[in-house]
Amino acid sequence: MLSKWLKPATHNQQSRFAPKTLALLAIFAASYALPSHALNVFVCEPEWGALVRAHAPHANIYAATTSRQDPHYVQARPSLISQMRRADLAVCSGAELEIGWLPMLQARSNNAKVQDGQSGMFYASEYVAMLDTHDHVDRSMGDIHAHGNPHVQFAVKDMPRISTALTARLVDIDPDNARQYQANGIRFRGHWHRQITQWEEVAEPLQGLNVVGYHGTYRYLFDWLGIAQVGDLEPKPGLSPTNAHIHSLAQLGADAVDLIVYSSHQDSRPASWLQQRIDKPVLELPLTVEGDQSLTEMIDIVIGDLLKQTGKQTHLPVQ
Ligand SMILES: [Zn+2]
Repeated sequence: MLSKWLKPATHNQQSRFAPKTLALLAIFAASYALPSHALNVFVCEPEWGALVRAHAPHANIYAATTSRQDPHYVQARPSLISQMRRADLAVCSGAELEIGWLPMLQARSNNAKVQDGQSGMFYASEYVAMLDTHDHVDRSMGDIHAHGNPHVQFAVKDMPRISTALTARLVDIDPDNARQYQANGIRFRGHWHRQITQWEEVAEPLQGLNVVGYHGTYRYLFDWLGIAQVGDLEPKPGLSPTNAHIHSLAQLGADAVDLIVYSSHQDSRPASWLQQRIDKPVLELPLTVEGDQSLTEMIDIVIGDLLKQTGKQTHLPVQ
């Protein structure tokens, strides 16, 4: 029955417009409604993929690393080079986190857009009030981050500044979609500011907590929430834990430490060795987002896990 009613309409259309005209109209409509091509965005770490998605949901995002990889040490594989070659924008932590592999990708990509100083190369740490900067660096300090701590995915207070800068960069690269990027940026920052208020409220019991960490991964988060990292499983930044060093940490005494923390991409054994000596809980925290998680979910999980493991609180407020 339906086809009976549709047929005359189709017939009328064909009689009024030649097929070639219709095809041209279709092409014009498609090119008018869609951007010339979806942006190709290369992110060094998954957390920046989540940030880009919140601002440019139609972008093709390729993450160079996963939550199980150490972002300090990555092999500059051909697949990474070819992804870098087609990128309109690359988003990385910067501050030398990726110094062992990103410069090689940039050089081998032959892509002028993603070289340092170009609008297609975005370093999140440039918009963060850096912690642990050093005036003087030498080999005796270990494999240290001379330009400050680059693990800025947990620089919660500075995330709105990163968002503002990323929005401006997207507008610069793809002005046709400027209004969309600006609206998404405003939405992200509004949501994030409301989250900060909630997170600070719910995490208040964590103030004064003494933690032995494993590298400076949560430095910004701890600083924000008033948590002290009283020891590090690494004898020096970037150096693997040793028995002698774990022994020296045990000398801190059980009263000086509330919790031992390591990250999802790290070996859990050094934390267990220290636990055997001082009998304090061990907690694995995420390094970054998993799958399609948002940055908000990542921070929710970290704060929720800290609260649970320390017995301070067992739930987050309903979103
Ligand atoms: Zn590091």
